[in-house]
Amino acid sequence: MSRAFYIGRFQPYHYGHQSVLERIAETADEIIIGIGSAQLSHEVNNPFTAGERVLMITRALAHLDRPYYVIPIQDIQRNALWVAHVRSMAPPFDRVYSSNPLVVRLFAEVGMAVESPAMYERETHCGTAIRELMLNGEPWESRVPPAVVSVIREIGGVERLQQIAGSD
Ligand code: NAP
Repeated sequence: MSRAFYIGRFQPYHYGHQSVLERIAETADEIIIGIGSAQLSHEVNNPFTAGERVLMITRALAHLDRPYYVIPIQDIQRNALWVAHVRSMAPPFDRVYSSNPLVVRLFAEVGMAVESPAMYERETHCGTAIRELMLNGEPWESRVPPAVVSVIREIGGVERLQQIAGSD
């Protein structure tokens, strides 16, 4: 039984994340998706709550043919303790996937190898670019799975982002 751990902020969850997870699913029996910076929401760079991100990911991966667990993980003030914090919140795992240099370093220091999966069409599939499109009232829907479009519509996500940015 191999259980893989993949962490991101998912602000929002998009096709780049989806392609990485579908590739991980080809070799792992189960997948844990950690929602990083779970405490943040209603900010221009972090508009969506942990619960909204849980909804996006859970719905978008419904077609996956293996179990997955979506776990919100709050940031903590001490990087040296972060891996223990993650382990205390997530089901046990034996493989880690991340492209974040700090995450790679922190897991390496406790002896866990981290694979850095390349993201599919990185220029298009990028959280910052998608938030920018939303802010500017431009089309963003083709960059995220349909399930994510419906969650963002349901919560009035674009209006929230524009209002907190003061750009509407
Ligand atoms: P992040 O800071 O949210 O994202 C870093 C960048 O990496 C983003 O531009 C992201 O793209 C991009 N990215 C993610 N996966 C990628 C991939 N497979 N290929 C290319 N680029 C990729 O960091 P994160 O790695 O997504 O999430 C790490 C989480 O762990 C954060 O929430 C961080 O706060 C948390 N953390 C906390 C502590 C602590 O509390 N002390 C310590 C370490 C890490 P998108 O914007 O498109 O997603």
